[in-house]
Amino acid sequence: MADSKRDYYEVLGVQKGASDDELKKAYRAMVKKYHPDLHPDDKEAEAKMKEVNEAYDVLSDKDKRARYDQFGFAGIDPSYAAGSGGGYPGGGFSGDFSGFGDIGDIFESFFGGGMGGFGGGRANPNAPRKGQDVKTQVQITFMQACKGTGVDIRVNRIEKCPQCGGTGARSGSSPETCPDCRGSGQVKVTQRTPLGMFQTTKTCERCGGTGRVIKDPCTACQGQGRIRKVLQKNVSIPQGIDDGQSLRITGEGDCGVNGGANGDLIIRVSVKPDENFEREGFDVYSEIPISYMQAALGDEINVPTIDGSVKYKIPAGTQNGDSFVLRGQGVPRLYRTGRGDHHVSVRVTVPRNLTKKQADLLRAFDDSLNDRNDSSRKSSWFK
Ligand SMILES: [Zn+2]
Ligand SMILES: [Zn+2]
Repeated sequence: MADSKRDYYEVLGVQKGASDDELKKAYRAMVKKYHPDLHPDDKEAEAKMKEVNEAYDVLSDKDKRARYDQFGFAGIDPSYAAGSGGGYPGGGFSGDFSGFGDIGDIFESFFGGGMGGFGGGRANPNAPRKGQDVKTQVQITFMQACKGTGVDIRVNRIEKCPQCGGTGARSGSSPETCPDCRGSGQVKVTQRTPLGMFQTTKTCERCGGTGRVIKDPCTACQGQGRIRKVLQKNVSIPQGIDDGQSLRITGEGDCGVNGGANGDLIIRVSVKPDENFEREGFDVYSEIPISYMQAALGDEINVPTIDGSVKYKIPAGTQNGDSFVLRGQGVPRLYRTGRGDHHVSVRVTVPRNLTKKQADLLRAFDDSLNDRNDSSRKSSWFK
């Protein structure tokens, strides 16, 4: 074709990656060469000048250049191209394009699938797809987290329709081959474009690309093959779980599509704080109140742990804030053997509302500490 369009870079005589300056320079050189003032009544120079102007107009515009680089002439603003009078192969350019908006629309009409049809963005409707994960939350007590427990959960999830077995067709019938696409899921479309007549394939609208139509839909799922159901289930929460952790039960989420795997059921566990015990990792922390006398003389005391009360001998002279460790009596390690430790911190309680007699005895006791001077005695008391 005599007037088939030349590549814009070729027209200006520059490389594809040419900088703006290089473009400008090339353009000026071309203008000097073909300017009509220099070539009066020269049709060829006039045409060349037109071609150069058009090329520069596109390449000097960042957006137009990007579209041209990606899509060629089809990527450029059609009104511009039509106005330039450039003869596109196939003809009828301006008329065909008048109804189109942006480049996305153009490709939609060219190839039937939108831009996503290229990069694989549009999923094949018959491809297996994994079901969605289903999430829920449970709250358990501190002790249940230590010991493990069973919890009843209730979640909505999508299951394969039990009535039609997932086909979507009323029982006794089955899906039929789509008459529009004869089961291929694709139909051929012939399209006139500025680049000529295109025959492209499009997803069949009648069957949505599945190649099958359901004449007599299942009443339970309205032909969807999947149905929303309530799942009630007792889930066992393992010992050692901590606040904010989640359990994932594989395959218990929404059912997959086209033979894809089911999603998972994810249970987030929140643990109510306990009034006696605190937890850090698998270690337990608690406080034990003892009397002033027990602290001074020592005693065997009962210490509450997550296994119940255990006996512990505190030595004479134990101070307020002293702590001891019950090894291996903390929280069982999640999914492992062994347990953390239990740290117990001693709180010495000071007697209140003493009777006169008690107060006198205490003073007598204080006086008995006569090997010390006043200030050190007081300071040792108040520590
Ligand atoms: Zn059904
Ligand atoms: Zn079809």
